[in-house]
Amino acid sequence: MSLNLETDVLIIGAGPSGTVAASILHQAGISVQVVEKMLFPRFVIGESLLPRCMDALKEAKFIDAIEAKGFQKKLGAQFVRQGVECDFTFEQQFTKGWGWTWQVPRSEFDKTLADTCESMGIPISFETEVTGIEIADDESSIATVKTKDGQEHKIRAKFIIDGSGYGRVIPRLFNLEKESNQAPRQAVFCHIKNPNGKNENVDNSKIVAVVHNDDTWIWMIPFSNGFTSVGYVSSPDFFKSFEGAPLEQYKKLVAADPIVAAQFEEFECGFEPRTLRNWSSSTDQFFGKGFVLTGNVTEFLDPIFSSGVTLATVSAQTAAKLVIKKLNGENIDWKKDYQEIMEKGISVFRTYVDRWYDGTLYKIFFAENRDQSIMEQICSVLAGYVWDMDNPFVARDDKNLVGLAKYISTREQMDKSV
Ligand code: FAD
Repeated sequence: MSLNLETDVLIIGAGPSGTVAASILHQAGISVQVVEKMLFPRFVIGESLLPRCMDALKEAKFIDAIEAKGFQKKLGAQFVRQGVECDFTFEQQFTKGWGWTWQVPRSEFDKTLADTCESMGIPISFETEVTGIEIADDESSIATVKTKDGQEHKIRAKFIIDGSGYGRVIPRLFNLEKESNQAPRQAVFCHIKNPNGKNENVDNSKIVAVVHNDDTWIWMIPFSNGFTSVGYVSSPDFFKSFEGAPLEQYKKLVAADPIVAAQFEEFECGFEPRTLRNWSSSTDQFFGKGFVLTGNVTEFLDPIFSSGVTLATVSAQTAAKLVIKKLNGENIDWKKDYQEIMEKGISVFRTYVDRWYDGTLYKIFFAENRDQSIMEQICSVLAGYVWDMDNPFVARDDKNLVGLAKYISTREQMDKSV
């Protein structure tokens, strides 16, 4: 256990958000203490990254360590509905940026980030849970943490970054939680492997999202270790017709979709299939006296466009730079320079999530003749470049998506009538 009871910045959580913030602060000569409730490696879902997070991982000096692990390179995304495929290749996108990223088992990926932090000299206290926080008038704080042996300790910090993900420590402690307006959804997933080896016909370098029915989609994320993460996302009602013990239920789900069933006629599981539900969360307040929230603590919408780790790392990158300025005596406009920027990116993803579930994106993705330049603009959003205001499908996201879908419908009707 590596626990300093006095630090410049206390970081809650050693996920991608916490570790990116820790590294950027540490490089600026600011003392950091990370506290993490779990012992790593620990399981967390969120395995398909987006190119935009590479900028944050690079600034945190994590790229070499991740590269050394040989994770599966991700070059794009494929969407499939009723036999029609729609491919996005990140090299062919509107915004200038990274053309690739990785698909990662998160237990190993997050441990790599945490190990790299420790090798830089950043203290991380694992199996240490933040249970209380008091913030003084001068914005310094005292956090109460409980270590594995049941002992309580008090950590004094000048500032706190809450990167506790689904733990949502500060929103819970300070009553900042807001009900999410996303419909309740459930995911059932596992890491599975074809016992006869890899399926030669499968392109491992893309996440595949299969539309099973209009309310249900399936992710398939191949890893370099031979396993593929396969998860079903739908309304909770959908899963009622697939009852049984976790493995029994999962086998029924795999058998129910022709694309998944063809690839995994037989399979081995890396762990017992898991279920998650009601993950969407929200808060109006991304910062407060003496603290800032990063990553999933601020908002998590829906996994369809793999936005979670990108928002986690970009928010950490942005917040850490502002914390450096603050501790160097500058006045920070957290609303303008942090919350509004993050909300802009979240709002673009929210538009795409909403337009996926209402069928607008089906119209665009699975249209017969797709305009290459428009698809490149949409590709940049799917690569995580949701702050590029030169991209019309970012700047006027909803208007352009709805307008394009309408145009495609009209064109289809005209084609039918001739
Ligand atoms: P986390 O990775 O959750 O890390 C937070 C850490 O804080 C944890 O290790 C936790 O143990 C620790 N912690 C919690 N409470 C405390 C406490 N009290 N004290 C100390 N430590 C604490 N994202 C993607 O990018 N791609 C995907 O394909 C994707 N798929 C998803 C599928 C589903 C079904 C769901 C629900 C989410 C998916 N996500 C995906 C989202 C992804 O899981 C998260 O956005 C991402 O993990 C957020 O990173 P983080 O660093 O904010 O939090």
